[in-house]
Amino acid sequence: MKTDKLYYEYFSANPYNAEITEIRRTGEQEAALVLDRSIFYPEGGGQSADRGSIQGAALLDVREEGEEILHIVSAKDARRLKPGPVECLLDLRRRRDYTVCHTAQHLLSGTILRIAGKATVSMRLGEEICTIDVDSPVLSEETLLAVEDAVMDAIEENHSVIIHLCPPEDISRFPLRKAPPEGEDAIRVVEIEGNDFSPCCGTHCASTGQIGMLRILGAEKYKGMTRVSFIAGRRCLKESRLLRKNALTVSRAFKAPLHETGEAALIQLEKNARLEKRLGKLEEIVAENEAVLLAAGADGSDTAIIAKSYDDKSMEELLRIGNAARQKNRSLYVLASKTDLKFAVFTRDAGKDLNALFGKKLESLDGRGGGGNGFFHGFFKDVSNLAAFMDSLGERKTE
Ligand SMILES: [Zn+2]
Repeated sequence: MKTDKLYYEYFSANPYNAEITEIRRTGEQEAALVLDRSIFYPEGGGQSADRGSIQGAALLDVREEGEEILHIVSAKDARRLKPGPVECLLDLRRRRDYTVCHTAQHLLSGTILRIAGKATVSMRLGEEICTIDVDSPVLSEETLLAVEDAVMDAIEENHSVIIHLCPPEDISRFPLRKAPPEGEDAIRVVEIEGNDFSPCCGTHCASTGQIGMLRILGAEKYKGMTRVSFIAGRRCLKESRLLRKNALTVSRAFKAPLHETGEAALIQLEKNARLEKRLGKLEEIVAENEAVLLAAGADGSDTAIIAKSYDDKSMEELLRIGNAARQKNRSLYVLASKTDLKFAVFTRDAGKDLNALFGKKLESLDGRGGGGNGFFHGFFKDVSNLAAFMDSLGERKTE
């Protein structure tokens, strides 16, 4: 049964009364309500379907099929509904958000065509960010700034948005920005007064002032074209709040004025890089000194085992120490990190079968790991097992 489409006219009538004419099972988990008239916009023309509720049943989707609008609800909700009068409640904030973004997209595409002479090929209105693909391999930052300014001018000048329903044979009287759809009885032309004419079936603001604001977020190359991302309306407010909150955090952390946070962050990064370089050099010296101390306690024979655990060193630091120590003599160095619960064996002798030396002991203490000729490493779940392992290798308790 044909549904009267009221979603263009009843932008703010909420709630709205309608009648369920049919309840249709469309899947295991969902059903479609067919109404005599609908304020819910079905997905189409790059715009997402509305959300809201019908007699308390949450709308999961809205689809247009032939002359009907199908309102998708859960099968559970559908079971308590029956044909007859119902109250429809539209999620107005979401509708307004998409309507604003959609109208902003017309204005943006029309302005890019006017200023840069480049056409929009496709568009997407996302939950967070909207994009258009412009038929141009490049759009300069200068051009995009000029476009953004011109769009803001049009918003402040508050041009009317006029809807024309035009028979296809008369469509040439409109300077359309893109080709009209074929096979329609009447083509819906959306005019932004003095700016843009575009065939479109979506929902639009009554005038450009309702857009409030548009921000171009960026432009990137995409399949030989340029994908321009943007936000409009309340999304600009949301982003502005978020950016200011972040900028204030950086400003306080760096004790820099709000408008100098970027520079302050770069200066801090440079400072960190210098410090890291210096720290790396110092760590090398510390590792070398520790390696000398360890080697001094070794007799340098093939069989001497020097075992040592560290409370405050990571395996990364122990790797540095072990690699320096094994250069000193032929002893075996078993170094453990109590913070990482890991250990590694270091030797100059690349042919020595370390698995034969440490494998069984590791297994008996519930450790994991392994090795082969010239290398062996492992870890324990428990610090006491790591200590027992190191003890068994004759670790000296005091230094
Ligand atoms: Zn549109």
